[in-house]
Amino acid sequence: MKNLHCPQCDAQRFFIKNEREKILLVTVTEEYEIKPVYPEESLEGFDLTMLYCLGCSWKGSPKSLRGHKHK
Ligand SMILES: [Zn+2]
Repeated sequence: MKNLHCPQCDAQRFFIKNEREKILLVTVTEEYEIKPVYPEESLEGFDLTMLYCLGCSWKGSPKSLRGHKHK
């Protein structure tokens, strides 16, 4: 399954936050499904509408991510 990329720096890893500012590392599939990088983690209580890029200062919704590059 392919992951979506940051529109600015092309990174595939993001983090999300919950109301206590705890963060969780995630990837986002082409179906806009948010998946924890570590499968034992739970998405419960996290805000899935705002992603923060690990590679740069970009943040935004899953829908604003970019698909994979065409060669
Ligand atoms: Zn980025």
